[in-house]
Amino acid sequence: MKIGIDMGHCLTGYDTSARGVFVESEYNRIVGKKVIQKLKEKGHTVINCTIDGGVSSMYDSLARRVKIANENNVDIFCSIHFNAGGGEGTETYLANPSAFINQEYYKKNYAIAKSINDKVAASCGFVNRGVKHEDFYVIYHTKAIAVLVEVCFCDSKSDFAKLDTDKVAIAICEGLTGEDYSVKIPKVETTDNLYRVRKSWSDVKSQIGAYRILENAKKECDSRSGYSVFDKNGVKVYPIAKAENPKNETIPNSSNSKEKIIKEYSEKGLFTCTVDAINFRNKPYVGSDNPIQGQYYRGEQVYYDYVVITDKYVWISWISAITGVRRYMPITDRIKNEKWGYVV
Ligand SMILES: [Zn+2]
Repeated sequence: MKIGIDMGHCLTGYDTSARGVFVESEYNRIVGKKVIQKLKEKGHTVINCTIDGGVSSMYDSLARRVKIANENNVDIFCSIHFNAGGGEGTETYLANPSAFINQEYYKKNYAIAKSINDKVAASCGFVNRGVKHEDFYVIYHTKAIAVLVEVCFCDSKSDFAKLDTDKVAIAICEGLTGEDYSVKIPKVETTDNLYRVRKSWSDVKSQIGAYRILENAKKECDSRSGYSVFDKNGVKVYPIAKAENPKNETIPNSSNSKEKIIKEYSEKGLFTCTVDAINFRNKPYVGSDNPIQGQYYRGEQVYYDYVVITDKYVWISWISAITGVRRYMPITDRIKNEKWGYVV
């Protein structure tokens, strides 16, 4: 699209602007330059119809702007202003219907004026004063669809407090073109670094959220029962597994509760504990006749060379460098499907 942008009023001489809480002509340019930049970034051709000064009269200022627009055959013309005179909010003008030979063209012009007005008002929470008709010189004499937007009141402190020129510029661009100019914030984190809230890691369908921030995942988890937070490796990080916590462990008294070994094999790896603590023993089952020999705590690592899978746990095993005794430590609760750390 070829778009004519007119930043209202001259900076010196004739046709200078209202001065309120801020100087209108300066803010017309602050907003207008942002509009021009954004439109160009989207690939539009922008014709700057602004006249900054050196005019012989107010009429000269306005006529020169229109001349630039008409000579360049712009598709749309937008004159950017701020209002004054006591009031609040946004209003946007187009010429009266009688100024249009083709009423379809009028309807199109009206729709764009309304879109700009609604978007600008909403962008900063200004009062929406609506679309108005007035045969202002610059919108009456331009051949193109033409609007004049009064962003808000330059003599209103409350409007000035709300004014965000970036948001206004985006609103004007979107209203003019019907395109989306909202800023796309690039995702810094990949989805791999999310904390997922699920019933179990394997129950993908139970997932109720994935969070970049662990605390947010915990909050979501706390709001429901039966859910846990898993890190990107599928390691349960919240709530902390209690089953092998040395203080909370319930040890079966009878040795006939020994775990049934399903599979065992040599495998070398490095395990990192991600729960408060895990007990290790000299045999791969939890029982009072198989006393706890020690613990690994959160963040601690151990090299292992053997894996035993029982009906209850996945155990890793290694030979203690100090005692020369083979140790066994559960790292996954197979019944609850909880991982207490990760292996690499
Ligand atoms: Zn003005």
